[in-house]
Amino acid sequence: MSAIFSSAAEYAAMGFRLIRVAGVRPDGTCSCHLGAACATPGKHPMQKAWQANSTTSEDVIASWFEGDSEPNIGLVFGAVSGYVDTEWDGPEAKATAEKFGLLSIPTPTYESSRGGHKLWKYDPRLPVKAVEKIGGLEVRIGGGDRGAMSVLPPSRHSSGTVYRWVDGLSPADIPVASLPESFIVAVCLNARGGSLAPGKVTARTIVESGLREGERHDGVVRFASGLIMRMRDPHDADEQQQIFTIICSLSQTMCQPPLDREELRGIFLGQLRWGMKARAAGASDVSSLDEDAERQIAAARESSPHAASGLELRSREWFPGAWGLTVVHGDPKEFQLSVLSGASDGGEGGGRATVTLSSAEWSSPRCVSRKILEATTIDVTDPTPAEWAKIWNGHSFKPDADSNVRVIVRGLKCKLMDVRTEEFPQAEQQRYTQVAGWLLDILSNAVRPESPEDDSRPNPSGRPAWIIGEAGEPELYFGWTRAFEDIESKRKVRFLEGEISSLRRRILFACGEADFRVMRVRVDSGVRRRYVVWKQAHIAALESIAHPADGSA
Ligand SMILES: [Zn+2]
Repeated sequence: MSAIFSSAAEYAAMGFRLIRVAGVRPDGTCSCHLGAACATPGKHPMQKAWQANSTTSEDVIASWFEGDSEPNIGLVFGAVSGYVDTEWDGPEAKATAEKFGLLSIPTPTYESSRGGHKLWKYDPRLPVKAVEKIGGLEVRIGGGDRGAMSVLPPSRHSSGTVYRWVDGLSPADIPVASLPESFIVAVCLNARGGSLAPGKVTARTIVESGLREGERHDGVVRFASGLIMRMRDPHDADEQQQIFTIICSLSQTMCQPPLDREELRGIFLGQLRWGMKARAAGASDVSSLDEDAERQIAAARESSPHAASGLELRSREWFPGAWGLTVVHGDPKEFQLSVLSGASDGGEGGGRATVTLSSAEWSSPRCVSRKILEATTIDVTDPTPAEWAKIWNGHSFKPDADSNVRVIVRGLKCKLMDVRTEEFPQAEQQRYTQVAGWLLDILSNAVRPESPEDDSRPNPSGRPAWIIGEAGEPELYFGWTRAFEDIESKRKVRFLEGEISSLRRRILFACGEADFRVMRVRVDSGVRRRYVVWKQAHIAALESIAHPADGSA
C-alpha cells in the first residue's frame, strides 16, 4: 500500500479534512495534464471546487489512489477544518516565527523543500482572509471564498524530496496547539491596518439570521470581542457584568439551541483577556467614542500606536520623542532605529527595540512600519498606511483654501537625521569581514575527494564539495544562495540586502574577475542546479577578506 495513502487514511481518522493534490511523476513533472509545463508541479488541488469538497472519508480518499499516478494530499484550513498553517520559506519568515515564539511550541511540524510548516488550531478571531503575510511568514487561515490548503507529508515534492514530519512532531505524536494570543493580535493588526474591530458578525447579521449549530461558538466569539473592544474600561466590574449579560441574552434569543452558561463564561473571559491585551497593544476603536468627541479623540491620539512607540505629538505634528537613530557607515550603510517596544502591563515604560534598516528600507515608509511591527508588535500605520507615509516622508498643505502659502511639515525621516549619532566601524568590525569569516567556515567543511579516481560529484543539495576538474585541478562546487541560507540558520542571523553582494564584489575584485564561473548540473533527482565553481585562489581571496590584519600588517 502506498505510504501517502496510508498516511492520508490516518489523518482522515483524526478528522483532518483532506483534498486530492496533483502528484509528482518519477521524472519530477506534474501528474496533471500539463505535465512538464505545469508551473506548480505536485502542489495544486486536482478538483476545481476543492474548498467545498474536502473529505474525511477513507473510501473517497482510496478512490484517489486508483489511477496510474499517485496523487499528493493536502489539508484544508479555516473554520471548516478547524486548523490553520504557518509557513516559513526563508530567513525573514523564520525570524518572525521565532520572534513570536512559534518555533518552540510543540505542535505538528513538517519540512518542505525550502522551509517548514507548523499546524495550529483555527481561531475565530483571525481575520476572514485566505492568507495573511506577516513579516514574510505566511499564515494560511482559509477564510473567505478562496480558501487555503497545504500539501502534507509524505507527499512528494518536484525536487525529488518528500515532505516529512519533524521527528516527534507528527500529528500521531502530539496534538495540534493553539496560536499564542500575541501572534493573533499581530495578525489582526497586520490585516486590518491597525484596527482590531472584529470580523463580519455584527448584532444586526445575527438578529436577521440567527446563529445555527456550528456557527454559534464563532459567532458569539466575534460578537463578544467587538463589544469588549468598545468597552470604556475593560477592568470595570460593572461594565463587565453588563457585557456578559448582553452576551447571555444574545445566546438565549439567537442561538439554536442556546450555548450553555459555562461555555459563554469561557468565551467572555477569554475575549476579555484578549481585549485588554489588544487595547494595551495600541488598537483603539475610535468610532465608538461619543461624548466630548474632541477631547476623546485627542486622548485616543495620545494612546495611539505612535505614542506607544515613543513618538511625541506637538501641535498636530509628530516628533521623534523617544526614538533614536544611529547611522552606521559600514559597507553597506545601516540605519539603526531605536523605538519603545510598547508599555508593558501597568505602563512602566516598557523596553526598547532596535530596528536595523538598509538604505532602501529607510526610504520606504512601508518597510519601516513593517519592521517596527515585527520588532514591537506596534503597528505605526494606524489609522492608515497613507497617513503613516505622510508622517514618515513629510508633506505639505494649505492652511486655508484661498491661501497661496503651503505649510511644509518635515517628515520623521528628516527629523531623526537631526538627532542622529554616527558610527564608523573599523575594517575588522565591518560586517563583510564577519560574513567572509562565516562563508569561509562553511566552505572549509566541504568534502574533498580522497583520490583522483573518486566518483566525486557536486552535492545534490548545493552544499560545498570539492571535485577534480578537467585539468586535474580541484574545484569547489557550491550553491551560492544555499551557502548563505546555511549561515543564517547556523548563526541565527539575518543578512541585510546588500551585505552578500558587498562581499561578492570584494572577492571578485581580489581575484580580478568580473563574475564567478557558474555550472548548471543535473543532480540525481533530475533537477538542474546552479553551482558557483571556485578554485583555491578564491578561497585565498576570501581568507584575506576575513582576516584583513594578517595580510596587510
Ligand atoms: Zn500540475
